[in-house]
Amino acid sequence: MKSSDYFARARTLMPGGVSSPVRAITPYPFYTRRAGGSRLFTVDCQELVDCCMAYGPLLLGHAHPEVRSAIARQAEEGWLYGTPAPIEVEFAETLCRDHRGMDMVRFVSSGSEATMAAIRVARGFSGKKDIVKVEGGFHGAHDAVLVKAGSGATTLGIPDSAGVLPDVASHTLQVPYNDPEALEDLLSRRKDVAAFIIEPVMGNIGPVLPDDGYLQGVREITRAHDVLLIFDEVICGYRVGIGGAQEHWGVVPDITTLGKVIGGGLPIGAFGGRKEIMEMVAPQGPVYNAGTFSGNPLSLAAGMATVRWIHDHPGLYRDLEEKTRAIGDAVSGTGRGSFVRLGSMFKLFFLDSEPRDYRQAKECDTAAFRNFWEKMLASGIFLPPSQFETNFLSTAHTWADVETICMAYRQCLS
Ligand SMILES: *Cc1c(COP(=O)(O)O)cnc(C)c1O
Repeated sequence: MKSSDYFARARTLMPGGVSSPVRAITPYPFYTRRAGGSRLFTVDCQELVDCCMAYGPLLLGHAHPEVRSAIARQAEEGWLYGTPAPIEVEFAETLCRDHRGMDMVRFVSSGSEATMAAIRVARGFSGKKDIVKVEGGFHGAHDAVLVKAGSGATTLGIPDSAGVLPDVASHTLQVPYNDPEALEDLLSRRKDVAAFIIEPVMGNIGPVLPDDGYLQGVREITRAHDVLLIFDEVICGYRVGIGGAQEHWGVVPDITTLGKVIGGGLPIGAFGGRKEIMEMVAPQGPVYNAGTFSGNPLSLAAGMATVRWIHDHPGLYRDLEEKTRAIGDAVSGTGRGSFVRLGSMFKLFFLDSEPRDYRQAKECDTAAFRNFWEKMLASGIFLPPSQFETNFLSTAHTWADVETICMAYRQCLS
């Protein structure tokens, strides 16, 4: 059975034929049979170099041997207890040690759950109602943050979802990225803001990188207005380095959300922050949060194995940086578009200059992107199927893979 056949069946069974919108490639997506290292193997017998890496979690590549054996070992011991287990204490210690902004942490099962809970905690702690987010910032698929949202919502032209009550959306205010004056202006006018939630690097629109001093500025402004600062590090955590963006830029948020890499490819999320804020969370405090699968030993085992491997191989970040630099050099040689990269994250924007915010990113020539994307796929390179999703490299990508990627970029852009 071929991908087109599976998709024909899927479309009658699942909305759009998929389980998450960005996967709905027209006319039909390829179906993956198996994955290993840097490769996807499709049911159509194509072997692809994967530069999507499941949209970020797979920093160590597909089916990394040590993560796989950690999962297998845990499976032997059972995978869901419904009681506390030693591994959550160990992993909590690791995460809190690695992140300056986290004295305490709560495990959940997805990044969406983490940001939903973080916003509730911020409201519960401050007693204030509004939140401010960045235009085009993506924080998962729940009501408070589906307002001018990035990722698939922008790709499909539905950044403001139907079904979100106007009353709810009216408590979500927006500012452009890289515009500290807009934030200052908004916070001096609106006095009921509980928190400012931001992806330190806009991973769901590009990446779009922070200007020098922007994150420091955001920290000073939120502190001056007594507004909590939430860093959504679901992508940045262990991606831009150990300690995430807060370590990289030396800016300590009040609340941090994590996900993706910390689950090693299994479902996970976490939120943490200053002690007095996290003590608001039930059962210690009045802000409710709970989950059947929260802190499940299987996700934690995969996450622990991943984070441990990262700690044992800290040189991986420099190596990945060199690899995306090589790709950038190849792209620059073609004179097409604007190439943006940070560590293992990269993207070619079909735009004359590097975008600094959502409005500029949306000016991209998406038709040109689509054309280029199809050529890359035909050349055996799978890029995320959207101008607005970051490409990711993993430690499984060899220099030979990088050379293959560079050659494909050169050919497909000429
Ligand atoms: C992916 C992502 C989320 C949502 O995480 P899920 O695990 O998909 O729910 C939230 N915030 C950011 C920044 C993300 O990239």
